[in-house]
Amino acid sequence: MEVTDINSDIVRNSLAEFDPDLICIYGTKKIRSEILELAPNALNIHDGFVPYYRGVSSGAWVSFESNYSYLYYCIHEAISRLDAGIVYRLDPVVPYFFESSTDHNYRRSTTAADAMVEVTRGLLNGTIQGYPQPSVGARNLRHRDKPQLFGEIASANFVSNNARTYKRSRPRTGRIEKLLVDRQKHPNRGVLSNGWYVVNYHAIVDDNDFDHTGVPRIVTERKRFAEHIDVYRREFTLVSVSEGISLLKRGSAEKRRYLSLTFDDTLQSPFSAMDLLGSSGIVPTFFINSDPVLNERQLKNHHTLLKRLYEAARPVASYDEWVLSQYMNLDDLRQACDDGSAEIGSHTATHARVNHTRFEELQVEIQENHRSLESALGREIDYFAFPYGGLNDRSFLAEFEAITTARYYFTAEGGINQHYVPGALLRIGIHNEDVGGLLQLLSDQYVR
Ligand SMILES: [Zn+2]
Repeated sequence: MEVTDINSDIVRNSLAEFDPDLICIYGTKKIRSEILELAPNALNIHDGFVPYYRGVSSGAWVSFESNYSYLYYCIHEAISRLDAGIVYRLDPVVPYFFESSTDHNYRRSTTAADAMVEVTRGLLNGTIQGYPQPSVGARNLRHRDKPQLFGEIASANFVSNNARTYKRSRPRTGRIEKLLVDRQKHPNRGVLSNGWYVVNYHAIVDDNDFDHTGVPRIVTERKRFAEHIDVYRREFTLVSVSEGISLLKRGSAEKRRYLSLTFDDTLQSPFSAMDLLGSSGIVPTFFINSDPVLNERQLKNHHTLLKRLYEAARPVASYDEWVLSQYMNLDDLRQACDDGSAEIGSHTATHARVNHTRFEELQVEIQENHRSLESALGREIDYFAFPYGGLNDRSFLAEFEAITTARYYFTAEGGINQHYVPGALLRIGIHNEDVGGLLQLLSDQYVR
């Protein structure tokens, strides 16, 4: 039936007569609770990552804010508070390179409709689990919050040069699309945008003919790292992560180029390379896994790297003894925090890939790890970073855990922070690029 008011009595009475098992909602305003309560379950399709994007035109808000990694659809329980119910599905719909905003909307809608059918089946046979939204970070977007030309800016942002730069950096499976994209000109090659850059390293190794083959891309040679530092000192104002965040919140990050240095995975080698920072005044941030520092266990993702380093160094100690010396220890970390020479974030317990929804495991990896590092270091830790860093390397539930665990959290999927918008702060993974390659990498980033 067709009605002008979804909340009218005729709707309520007809539905009551129909006696539904489930109410499915897509694309309407708030529905009053007397109607929602006519079925044991009510589901809504929403076009945004909750709790950051709740309310009207959420998909357009994402585009308006150039927050392209948050192009999500959501299937959640419909309750009388708009978009606030339990979440059943929350998945990104990564835009194709040549896709218009209209086409993307359409694809997102059909993907969400399929997911709604799956959730419906899951609810009826009891195989689906819902998760409450985090109570922090929520935003309710209303028509009256929209600035002038909101719709125009949102559609233009979706296909702008900036969006193209974003889309170019996403993994592509289609071979033809890949071929066509590779032939496109880079819009801002060689030009460094303003904003706050957060660069990310893992291991810094000595330059003695270290064999990189088969080692994951987490290695930077010491001489390259020294060259990188020179580039950073020349091209950027160097700030700590906490300074970067306050620049961003004050709206000052768009006026110049700022850069912060971060290291993931708890390895000792970056700590030893700090002498290369010299008088630069850089305060780096270390993202720490609790397994190596609290439980004397090496991280699985370092297996090949550490084996190779052990062979090259040929130490007297056995591998098992030696391997623990390759990680930072608690005393060094405490010292660095106390004298202000470093800032600390957490990076899960075991460096697990957190792209699933096994809740207990996520809680141990993200939340419990963070709290145990806090008590070991005797201080609050404000930051968390996802391992592996790509959009597909985290599930919405892992992100919910991150939101409730740390005041700020990071990915390493690229991008420059220019405005303070909800979501993971952006970092750029740096490897063993020469100076030309580094400048190219830094100029090929989208801004948000
Ligand atoms: Zn890592």
